[in-house]
Amino acid sequence: MKSNEFGMNTVCTHTGGIEDEQFKGAVSPIYTSSSYAYEDVDIKRYPRYFNTPNQEALAKKVAALEKCEAGLIFGSGMAAISHTLLAFLKTGDHMVVQKTIYGGAFNFMVEELPKLGIEFDFTDGFSEEDFLSKVKPNTKIIYVETPSNPLMLITDLEMITRICKERGITSIIDNTFASPVNQNPADFGIDIMVHSATKYMGGHSDICAGAVAASQEHIDRIWNLAKNFGGSLSDYTVWLLERSMKTMVVRVKAQNRNAKKLAKWLDKHPLVHKVYYPGLKNHPDHDIAKRQMRGFTGMLSFELIDSIDPDAFMSSLKLIKQSMSLAGVESSILSPVKTSHALLTPEERQRQGIADGLLRFSVGIEDKKDLISDLEQAFETVAKKQLVTL
Ligand SMILES: *Cc1c(COP(=O)(O)O)cnc(C)c1O
Repeated sequence: MKSNEFGMNTVCTHTGGIEDEQFKGAVSPIYTSSSYAYEDVDIKRYPRYFNTPNQEALAKKVAALEKCEAGLIFGSGMAAISHTLLAFLKTGDHMVVQKTIYGGAFNFMVEELPKLGIEFDFTDGFSEEDFLSKVKPNTKIIYVETPSNPLMLITDLEMITRICKERGITSIIDNTFASPVNQNPADFGIDIMVHSATKYMGGHSDICAGAVAASQEHIDRIWNLAKNFGGSLSDYTVWLLERSMKTMVVRVKAQNRNAKKLAKWLDKHPLVHKVYYPGLKNHPDHDIAKRQMRGFTGMLSFELIDSIDPDAFMSSLKLIKQSMSLAGVESSILSPVKTSHALLTPEERQRQGIADGLLRFSVGIEDKKDLISDLEQAFETVAKKQLVTL
């Protein structure tokens, strides 16, 4: 049976594992050598060449999960993103970038690309017209991220492919939020998938890593640049990431289920003004999300009503921790205004629809009833303090 015929759980548990031929152990051995023989070998191995046995094996798992020919594992999500962009852009080129993207990717573009004479334009929205109006004769890349942070807005992937294919533009998606469990952009013709493996692939808030999946030709091109920039991942962490990814489908599906139930519960709560979850029928992009996603992720955002102080609410939570990152098995919550979107002006935040009372919730795998009681007791505490009637 070829690995591309396996279901996703089987790919997670088996594809890209290394057989322990010596001792017949159940899991991949870890090869930590940074020095390999060079005579009588078919490839010269070296950790910065992304080709140690563990690096290569894990890249196969990522490629299989994204239904692509090849993959590469990086030292962080930003290493994956920066190396990929620089492999496809040179002085005089132009890139079209979706309006709201991850802050680190935004900073990389704004701070680094102008030094290299690479131009880019952010779209004003998510429609075909918004993208088309920014395309120029020298556009080489369209870069998207869907669902986007924090409002979980959805970009239509078939529309992006249509624009790109007609014009010979390469499409790149940051597929971190969806994870390959919920979305395979390659099914819709997207060329290159980049991931922060720090999030759902790692899933336990203890690994920093990145990954890219694409055709062999695209991966070769990224590798050619990446070996010079040197953003590979240590074999120790590669091994840990392989271990984490074995349970990715199980974890993410549990997070999907919890998030959907909590989104529905929050949507009915009197102290909640609005919930943003693509799995809810009232989300503006629910129909596109249904077309291109198998599940709606463990990420959601909600806006408290004006009279509730978001900080008082968050600090009243006991089980759900305030924390910067996302996608761990433990639930966490943050204020975009104070973290990811703190550097934007209040006017820009308002333009993007990010209210002061907006909270981004990364839903974990805890029992739904415990998450609901934690939210409920925090609502009761702030309502009492602020004399708001429930
Ligand atoms: C975290 C994140 C990144 C950056 O990944 P690092 O591993 O922190 O470098 C990129 N994109 C998205 C959507 C992220 O959430």
